[in-house]
Amino acid sequence: MLRWPPRAACPACLSMSYSWVDVGGSAVVFSWCVVHRTNLPALASLTPYVVLAAQLDSHPHIKFLGNLDGPREGLSIGAPLVVTFNPISPQISLPWWRLS
Ligand SMILES: [Zn+2]
Repeated sequence: MLRWPPRAACPACLSMSYSWVDVGGSAVVFSWCVVHRTNLPALASLTPYVVLAAQLDSHPHIKFLGNLDGPREGLSIGAPLVVTFNPISPQISLPWWRLS
């Protein structure tokens, strides 16, 4: 069973053992919204921006939250996506999604 979101123990059997699994980088739009205002100063310059739930092609029960990377034209439920990685520091990159 895949553990998503990542957590220390398996919710079914409480096992602490795990391994990382490649789930691929393609998905479809499960849901989305446009953020026009934010109370977070770090995100203010990005408004308006899209937050979406990406349903992974390889594991449809997993909905992966992220931002839309790129233009909104064609954004709709079921639209195909590919993952991109947005570096926010030398050590950390966040997965974003681009319409494909
Ligand atoms: Zn388990």
